[in-house]
Amino acid sequence: MSDPVTVQTHEVVVLGGGPGGSAAAALLAQLGRDVALVHPSSPQGAALAQSVPPSARRLLAEVGLLDAVDRAGFRPNEGNTVRWAGGAPRSESFPPGSGGFHATRGDLEAVFSRAVESLGAHVRRGTSARSVERFDGEWRIRCASQDGGPLELRTGWLLDATGRTGVVARHGRVPDRRTETLALLRRYRRPDGWDGADATHTVVESHGEGWAWSLPLAPDVRCVTTMVDPPGAAARGSDPTPLFEAHLAHAPLLADLVAGAEPLGDAWACPASLYTSSRFAEAGLVLVGDAGSFIDPLSSYGVKKALASGWLAGVVAHTGLVDPGMAGVAAGFFHHREESVYRGYRRLSARFFEEAAAAHGHRYWASRAEAARAAGGEGEGPTPEAIMDGTEWEIPEDAVRAAHRLLREQPHLEARAGAGVRVVERPAVEGRRVVMQRQLASARAPGGVRFATGVDLLVVTEQAPLHREVPDLWHAYNRVAPPVGLPEFLTGLATAFAAGFLEHGAP
Ligand SMILES: Cc1cc2nc3c(=O)[nH]c(=O)nc-3n(C[C@H](O)[C@H](O)[C@H](O)COP(=O)(O)OP(=O)(O)OC[C@H]3O[C@@H](n4cnc5c(N)ncnc54)[C@H](O)[C@@H]3O)c2cc1C
Repeated sequence: MSDPVTVQTHEVVVLGGGPGGSAAAALLAQLGRDVALVHPSSPQGAALAQSVPPSARRLLAEVGLLDAVDRAGFRPNEGNTVRWAGGAPRSESFPPGSGGFHATRGDLEAVFSRAVESLGAHVRRGTSARSVERFDGEWRIRCASQDGGPLELRTGWLLDATGRTGVVARHGRVPDRRTETLALLRRYRRPDGWDGADATHTVVESHGEGWAWSLPLAPDVRCVTTMVDPPGAAARGSDPTPLFEAHLAHAPLLADLVAGAEPLGDAWACPASLYTSSRFAEAGLVLVGDAGSFIDPLSSYGVKKALASGWLAGVVAHTGLVDPGMAGVAAGFFHHREESVYRGYRRLSARFFEEAAAAHGHRYWASRAEAARAAGGEGEGPTPEAIMDGTEWEIPEDAVRAAHRLLREQPHLEARAGAGVRVVERPAVEGRRVVMQRQLASARAPGGVRFATGVDLLVVTEQAPLHREVPDLWHAYNRVAPPVGLPEFLTGLATAFAAGFLEHGAP
């Protein structure tokens, strides 16, 4: 007789305890939601070495995982040494103590899962989802667990954060076949360790047939990864070590780095082809992090992208639970954001691939540059960082500086509403919920903007025509909006002029 199935119901079920799933579960637990995290005991690709940039700290703090990461004592990530497109190696260090780190996927997940549990989520360790079905808006997830009988989790909100596996996500996946890539990884030990920048830097190098990088996991251990076209059918399944060595020989900076070091076992392979999704979310379902899309590891931003995605997925599920009428809007907001992030990264990588294609003249680069350009679209567009920060329609800094200068040169303030400026209602995140927000839009900021440097531009634009001195305007602003310091206020005011929300001239 088979074991009886244990059935448990939660407000939210998150599948997968990588950075995306952990961020979502951590945020939801802190918001007081009843959330379960399904976490297999040995994550896929546990040995994969990853660099996490200092800029991920803000997100880690936002979801409550930063202290746990700081306590873990991971190898610091203090910068990059890059030899790209045949140029001379360039070394760039992060400011001292800025807090990036290198860690294996397995170590990072172990730290995250303990932290998520301590924040109040139900972490189902040693459990993985086997099948998922939906009945009348309720998800039923059959799980296999190592120590216990069969488990069925039920929920109205399912967050699929199962990475490339994509338990639900794989059904709507859109692979970019022109980017089929295999990552080959091998570790090396140098008993005396590496020194100088090599001790903490990520080292990256492009060559004719691909690119490679290395990062330190301990003072005496580095992991080297080469990104290659997948081998033909005949070579599939065979030991990838000879292929790895052949590619490493094309990358002299990296070959020198590990010359004389002892290889720790053979090379191993993992898939690294790119994909996106036709739909990232709907009411009751969110595809988080790599489940929804995979960007080139060249950016070193996969973990950060997954953290941002997990944070927003948590916000979306929370919104749907607090205000079911907003569930569809919140899901649409998530979809738009994830789609833009994916396109933004593809656009960013196109520049690097084009440089490499021009220098190396190999099909590897030409096809990827073309694929990246097609996927990213034309033009500059918002940076992935700006999209993740929710400032995708940011006004260029030089325009804000010019507006600032002009303000200082004027004897008095004379401001009127800009021609064509209008108030639009757009979804935005406020107080960890997706709400309809009144925003200002103009020809220069067509997507709608509300805040800049914490200053409410709607209030600035309403108040500015009423005052002839900037300090008076600042005091008036602080009486009706959460107070801000004068420097932030001046930047906000300059942004309102730069965006065309205000114009100089008599009201
Ligand atoms: C070769 C390579 C190198 C990379 N290097 C970097 C780097 O240096 N820096 C960086 O930022 N990013 C890097 N990345 C990308 C980064 O690893 C991912 O973007 C990031 O881990 C995505 O996080 P995630 O939580 O979305 O998914 P994942 O980290 O993939 O987590 C998914 C989780 O779901 C679990 N899971 C799978 N199936 C099931 C199931 N049925 N039930 C429950 N759970 C399941 C998995 O075990 C895993 O724990 C690299 C990727 C590759 C392939």
